[in-house]
Amino acid sequence: MLNYRIAIVGAGPAGYFTAQSFQNAQSDDLSFTIDMIERLPTPWGLVRSGVAPDHPKIKTVSKVFEKIAKEPGFRLFANVELGKDFSLKDLRDQYDAVVLATGASKGRKLGIPGENLTNSLSAADFVPWYNAHPDYVDLKVDLISDTAVVIGAGNVAMDVARILAIDPTELYPTDVADHALAKLKQSNIRTVIICGRRGPEHAAFTAPELRDLPKLENTDVYIDSKQIQDAESRIAALSEIEKDLKNNLEAMKLIAEYPKKGVERKLEIKFLAAPIEFKGNNKIEEVIFTQNKVENGKVVSSGEKFSVKCGLVISAIGYDSVEYPGITIENGRINNIAGHVEHNIYTTGWAKRGPTGVIGTNKSDSTDVVELIIKNLKEPKLSEGITSLLKSGHEVIDQLAWEKINASEVISGEIAGKPRVKEVDWKRLISLGRSS
Ligand code: NAP
Repeated sequence: MLNYRIAIVGAGPAGYFTAQSFQNAQSDDLSFTIDMIERLPTPWGLVRSGVAPDHPKIKTVSKVFEKIAKEPGFRLFANVELGKDFSLKDLRDQYDAVVLATGASKGRKLGIPGENLTNSLSAADFVPWYNAHPDYVDLKVDLISDTAVVIGAGNVAMDVARILAIDPTELYPTDVADHALAKLKQSNIRTVIICGRRGPEHAAFTAPELRDLPKLENTDVYIDSKQIQDAESRIAALSEIEKDLKNNLEAMKLIAEYPKKGVERKLEIKFLAAPIEFKGNNKIEEVIFTQNKVENGKVVSSGEKFSVKCGLVISAIGYDSVEYPGITIENGRINNIAGHVEHNIYTTGWAKRGPTGVIGTNKSDSTDVVELIIKNLKEPKLSEGITSLLKSGHEVIDQLAWEKINASEVISGEIAGKPRVKEVDWKRLISLGRSS
């Protein structure tokens, strides 16, 4: 029986599905010892700090993660940081294969004047702020003005816009961060405008998420039906219209035609609006857009400009992977060929393919990478793994410690009528893990 040591860096969906693929590949002659390494004191990655709090169904995948973690040979090493506690070379030497499932957490920049004004934020910071990520607790978010603009026509833009536009009472039964809920309760924002630079037919939203919008209880959602009709006539000439596109346009039409409740809270989706400048005196006050048009299938500026007065802008235009020693990033991803980085180092998930796809996309991605790894494995290394790399006294959050944190958060949640109350303080998280 051959037993290989595998290090998976990053305890998000891509990391867990990689572990699962290794577990599924075990046989009478082949087994794996899987060490999952995570910088934070908590696992689950974007399922904990990315998925919107008002979408609890998506988070139920964490049950699958916990099942994977219970399998023999799986060990969690959270509160352990690659690049700080040891180098990639150290890890490489100790393991038969290292899989970097480190995601993409750096928000892309628009690169336009005024982008750095106060209260011009990236979804890469705003989303973990409302999701209780310990690193973003102190983010300065000012919700004093009545209008917010969200740049981007993807699902993250939609999440962000919804959180800003709904009545905060709708967030009471969720696991939204306490600090964010307190801020949202005092928010003056009543109009949120999502701006996509291309047409409805090019939007990256997905239909189920769009279909949920008219169901919002305290918010009217607007789309100009003329923009949808124009998009429909533009695509009518195509020989084949993809099902997803058809569904998206139908869902948008439903939003446009849906009877409005006449409530104060508004969420609008505008298309063909590309931001060219943010203006303000230190703090954002106005976004200048160029009005785009579609000409011969291409999106071009019409030459016309318009502006939207607002006191908050969130850019939700995609993510890049973070660079660390030993890793090169190209086009926002870890440089790789089909998941192979170099030597015995591999990558999967957003770090491998870029920030696209839903949680489930990581499953097939990880299966492919694990197949490649197994094909490339040689003689198992005789090594001790991570324990030889960590300084004595390093406070690791292992599976048992995480289960204590998890139980404590869930119990606090039961008292408050929420699925959990997330602890945001790093030190308190560690002490919860220590508790008996
Ligand atoms: P995304 O789906 O790639 O959308 C990014 C948006 O930003 C696009 O509309 C893009 O427009 C726009 N954009 C990019 N650069 C821009 C620029 N310079 N100026 C103006 N707009 C710009 O990315 P995402 O929303 O971050 O989501 C990432 C992935 O997570 C997606 O696969 C998404 O479906 C998934 N996700 C899923 C859920 C869910 O299932 N509920 C929730 C959140 C996220 P162009 O198309 O013109 O480039």
